[in-house]
Amino acid sequence: MDVDLPARLAAVRDRVRRACADAGRRPDAVRVLLATKTQPLDAVRAVLEADAAARAVEPSAERPAPVLLGENRVQELVAKAPGLVALEPAWHVIGPLQSNKVNAALRWARCVETVASLDLAHRLADRTADRPGGPLDVMVQVNVSGEETKSGISPAAAPALAREVAALEGLRLTGFMTVGARSADARVVAAGYDRLAAVRDEVLASGAPGTASALELSMGMSGDLELAIAHGATIVRVGTAVFGSRLPTSPSA
Ligand SMILES: *Cc1c(COP(=O)(O)O)cnc(C)c1O
Repeated sequence: MDVDLPARLAAVRDRVRRACADAGRRPDAVRVLLATKTQPLDAVRAVLEADAAARAVEPSAERPAPVLLGENRVQELVAKAPGLVALEPAWHVIGPLQSNKVNAALRWARCVETVASLDLAHRLADRTADRPGGPLDVMVQVNVSGEETKSGISPAAAPALAREVAALEGLRLTGFMTVGARSADARVVAAGYDRLAAVRDEVLASGAPGTASALELSMGMSGDLELAIAHGATIVRVGTAVFGSRLPTSPSA
């Protein structure tokens, strides 16, 4: 086991706390999602256990919510999730979800953050309408930077998609997700985060059926979580800051 995992998780928790204070936001306004791609099961288990141990010694008024887990690839989700059921993590899908992987993803995912088409939303809704856990949480992924390599719907088209998704039975729209611009200029990245917040605010203001729950902004990663929190993030997705560098993906994954 990597002995530094608990310390790195604690450092991320500190960064989040400080960023919330600097932004005048409550410390519980932001949740930490751990991006587990390429990380072995043992590392993910160790970090969940470290999180539980660290939370247990916090006074209850200051205790942060448990970390969320995020997987990009359904194959990796399916490989890891069964070994962690005892720890009851909430898994989010944070990578593109192919339609032939929907069933496998739904076995484990609490939330699919990467809904960028009505077609995928329908496929999810069709399979969740009568599942025992109730509706599936979903977020609309928005490509705020317009970079061609990025997934997500355009900011202009996002509010209409979000309203349609929110109206589907079996789904609960909880918010919006983006991967920030690939730019060294913090103003460019921040403008993208403001764009995502504006989409969220427009959808909330619409008052359309099912949109009142669309409060979350999943944005910011290891390198820029402070910036994202300053611009309204409610979930920051952290990989390397906790796990260290990514391992090469195994060819079978
Ligand atoms: C890997 C990944 C992250 C975490 O990135 P780090 O820079 O390692 O913190 C966040 N979001 C998504 C969608 C990812 O794929």
